Amino acid sequence: MRTRHLAVIAAVAISALAQPDIRAQVRTASRTRAHVEMLASPQLGGRLTGSAGERLASDYIVSELKKMGARPLPGQADFLIPFDFTAGTRDGGTTVAVDSVPPRMSNKTFSSRSDVQALSFSDNADVTAPVVFAGYGIVVPDSQDFGYDSYAALDVKDKIVLVLRYFPEDADQKTRAILSRYADLRYKALAARQHGAKAMLVVTGPNSPNAGEVVPMSFDTALAGSGIVAASISANVANSFFAAVPDKSFDDVQTQLDTANPHVAGFDLPNLSVTVHANVVREKQTGHNVVAYLPATQPTAAVSKPWVAVGAHYDHLGHGEAGNTLANKEEANQTHFGADDNASGSAAVLAIGAALSGQPRHRNVLLAFWSGEELGLLGSSAFAAQPPLPMNQIAAYLNFDMVGRMQDNKLTVQATGTSAMWGKIIEQTNIAAGFDLQLQADPYQPTDVATFNGASVACLTFFTGVHADYHRPTDTADKINYEDLDRVVDFAVAILRRVEDSEAAPEFVKVDPPTQPGGGRAGVRIFTGTIPDYSSDAKGLLLSGVVGGGPAEAAGLQKGDVIVEIAGQSITNIYDYTYALDVLKIGQPAKVVYMRNGQRRETTLTPAARK
Ligand SMILES: [Zn+2]
Repeated sequence: MRTRHLAVIAAVAISALAQPDIRAQVRTASRTRAHVEMLASPQLGGRLTGSAGERLASDYIVSELKKMGARPLPGQADFLIPFDFTAGTRDGGTTVAVDSVPPRMSNKTFSSRSDVQALSFSDNADVTAPVVFAGYGIVVPDSQDFGYDSYAALDVKDKIVLVLRYFPEDADQKTRAILSRYADLRYKALAARQHGAKAMLVVTGPNSPNAGEVVPMSFDTALAGSGIVAASISANVANSFFAAVPDKSFDDVQTQLDTANPHVAGFDLPNLSVTVHANVVREKQTGHNVVAYLPATQPTAAVSKPWVAVGAHYDHLGHGEAGNTLANKEEANQTHFGADDNASGSAAVLAIGAALSGQPRHRNVLLAFWSGEELGLLGSSAFAAQPPLPMNQIAAYLNFDMVGRMQDNKLTVQATGTSAMWGKIIEQTNIAAGFDLQLQADPYQPTDVATFNGASVACLTFFTGVHADYHRPTDTADKINYEDLDRVVDFAVAILRRVEDSEAAPEFVKVDPPTQPGGGRAGVRIFTGTIPDYSSDAKGLLLSGVVGGGPAEAAGLQKGDVIVEIAGQSITNIYDYTYALDVLKIGQPAKVVYMRNGQRRETTLTPAARK
């Protein structure tokens, strides 16, 4: 599963069976344990997409597929279907040259990485143009009914825009909450491009966190640039631009924007010509999906769509080198075994395949093991972009991502809104299974189910909740609840049987996407170190843990606490909490009210800056 900055659940020890000999029997009976132990073993090195560990994992999966009699898809010679992706980006020598027209001051070229660095999504090109300062470069869509457009009074066509990073520092809370959603640099670059700008330069203002520093290059898996030249510059470089407008200083300009009216107009920087030479080096690699099928045991002519599909991603984070890791300092660079995320789901798909291989089948059963999920759903997206079989021939897709840490019999099933049939099928199947189900209609989840929803396939994804070992080297095979993982397998097989036995396919229903861009993560710059329990429906924000060494730990918060108020805002659910994060200020202590063991307590939390 991809990182949610909302997340999570606590780890409770699996109740050990009293008799050691009975426990041994359960162990041998598990249909998933050997798969998880193999995939999460040290020699697979955390299964980073494109790595040797990924290849070893795919070798294992292929050997298991062969054992159950699965075949490569029709028209495919092999179980492995490769896809290319960008494994990393670095700056290949971006420069900014400043020329005044007519020459007034000494012209200057900046080339050190502390002065100028491409943004990871930049096009590689040279742009020479006049510069327009466009404030924070934020455009709030009309649909939000808010009226904030940094470009409203500006003509930036074919020019270079200079924008501030983040969003106005001193606006009121409501304004900050809205603007923060549109402050992501990709979003700003899109706005600049849509207004006709040739390039966007971003500078971190003197009043902001990380003041004056260039933006670190983020991990970006896109194979090409985003259609605009984009780079960040230091305060040093920005000041040389502002030398062209002697009546204005960079510091004053930000202060003006931040206080009185947070959207004072931008302005031209006259008599200035700037050349941006942007160079992003993208290192290409190849990842591999493993895809197989169990052919129908009878002609499929009678059924409306001749395929059902089950899938799970088998890649994980390697040693954390590609980001997304939540390892603490002592755990840095260690193998991220990914037993729950997502050896558990991969094991479930293998066990489902093994079960179905011995039964009559009215439809072909596609068994998919995606790679590149942790880097951005790359494998499933590549599959859907060039599907080896028509996507509209797939009656349903069932996804498994983190299904190995069930507690208290709780199973979350998401994307149930993608077909009107799911409610009834799940309810009836659960009579025998007996799970305490948490159903969520939303298919826009940070896992491969989103890809199938995007391709209009009725789908479901199964999930047993996030925990304190999520995306850390401590997500190990010994912590998996195999008994309940096997029950998830049986449940899924029963659901598939019902889909499979019906001539009609579940009709796809389009669920409206959430209104917040990026699920509210845009421009997140606050770090509190809390690990919310994503699946809780408690009133307030239940913590499943705190990040070691983070602000929440320093504030004395711990697993099991329920935050009910932060910085004067009451918190009734996780959405309130993300809203509150947007309005907190870095370094400014905020009062936190929380419940512990039924008692109301208070503490002070000082948010830190996310790099
Ligand atoms: Zn993950």
